[in-house]
Amino acid sequence: MKYLDEYRDAKAVHNVLAEINRTVTRSWTLMEVCGGQTHSIIRHGLDQLLPPEIELVHGPGCPVCVTPLELIDKALALAARPDVIFTSYGDMLRVPGTFVYSETGVQANDLFSVKSRGGDVRIVYSPLDALKIARENPYKTVVFFAVGFETTAPANGMAVQQAAREGLDNFCVLVSHVTVPPAIVAIMEAPETRVNGFLAAGHVCTVMGLEQYRPLALKYQIPIVVTGFEPLDLAYGILNVVKQLEAGTCEVQNAYARTVPAQGNLPAQNVIADVFEPCNRAWRGIGVIPQSGYRLREKYVKFDAERRFPDVGAMKSVEPDICRSGEVLQGLLKPDQCPAFGKQCTPLTPLGATMVSSEGACAAYYKYGRIQEIL
Ligand code: SF4
Repeated sequence: MKYLDEYRDAKAVHNVLAEINRTVTRSWTLMEVCGGQTHSIIRHGLDQLLPPEIELVHGPGCPVCVTPLELIDKALALAARPDVIFTSYGDMLRVPGTFVYSETGVQANDLFSVKSRGGDVRIVYSPLDALKIARENPYKTVVFFAVGFETTAPANGMAVQQAAREGLDNFCVLVSHVTVPPAIVAIMEAPETRVNGFLAAGHVCTVMGLEQYRPLALKYQIPIVVTGFEPLDLAYGILNVVKQLEAGTCEVQNAYARTVPAQGNLPAQNVIADVFEPCNRAWRGIGVIPQSGYRLREKYVKFDAERRFPDVGAMKSVEPDICRSGEVLQGLLKPDQCPAFGKQCTPLTPLGATMVSSEGACAAYYKYGRIQEIL
């Protein structure tokens, strides 16, 4: 197959679903790691077409959703500074930080609201756009919000390398990078986990390859199938996990070979290794997962926004109780099981990042009609 619409062909998807039906004999819980996969599953109703024995739960692979509240609050503080131009991908602009309590009531606090109050917040499509803004504005500090999994780390790392080469000292990054394998460890180590197998995120593996998943499959005796994002990709990934579960095997399989080479993208891995080092990282709603993030290596530390603005770097925030996105992100709760879903929490009045992110599970349930089930 060559074209994208061939991976959306209903007949081909139904053929794979029929094979899943013929294969399954017992109940299994599968987790799709990536929020992009969650949106595709909900958009196409794949979870509702599966046999009742198979439950899909949604994983933590939405970078916007897992960016900790504290880093959102730091971004808001930096963006409000008159000496800063704050640059970010557009999907971070509506992520709520700590709510502001005033005489007029509770107000959401996000980058859009900072911009409406006069902050210089600019949407960029690449960290290289942020570098260009830094060159054009030598008397301001340009901060780029470096958010994401292993997928965005290479481009963000290259921007830091480029800034270092050019001596662009008015550029820095607010780093909130996270990585997938430690999240799988955290999910499998949680006593309440129900996950029997994983659909690994195809784009992350395009960068990082397959090898880092083999020890996890072995240790936790779980099949991990690298899966794409179209309905046929997802159905095929699910079929391969179910086949392994029914056969009692626990291997890492590549069901997205048209994109994912086994070794990943070595030049991209080299950029990550040069610029970043692993660190403990807090995930929004979940807490600190050991060695699950990247921070800048010491040789690039002058580009670290938290070091450059120590008052911002020292900020602490407390997660509100009402949002249960941490449970959603660990597959312990479906979005429509959250009491606030579709009531206090909607895309216009989000209480958590999972309701505003284009990869958020709560946003997917709302956008694709699961809201009607509770009305
Ligand atoms: S529905 Fe809203 S409050 Fe509930 S978990 Fe999702 S984002 Fe949080």
